[in-house]
Amino acid sequence: MIESFDHLEIYCPQLGMMLTFNYCRRSQSSLPCRNLMGCWEERIPVDSFLGENFSREDLEAAFGGIPKTRMERIFDYLTQINEKKPG
Ligand code: SF4
Repeated sequence: MIESFDHLEIYCPQLGMMLTFNYCRRSQSSLPCRNLMGCWEERIPVDSFLGENFSREDLEAAFGGIPKTRMERIFDYLTQINEKKPG
């Protein structure tokens, strides 16, 4: 569920203040902050969270410049989820 980690707080190095994950996951016009992976990967399962809650197009728009291998892992996860869905 997309709200699962919304209550968690983190110090934002860009804004210089505490923020909740709710902000980080939608800080770019409802898309995740470009730094979300780096900021949150030690605290939540970032790859699966992104794969479960965003489309490939959304992720490319949000993280277009990140290393391809990481994006491919997330896309693989997304594909696995879609294959498991009934119907
Ligand atoms: S993910 Fe973005 S908004 Fe959130 S703490 Fe990191 S830099 Fe700040």
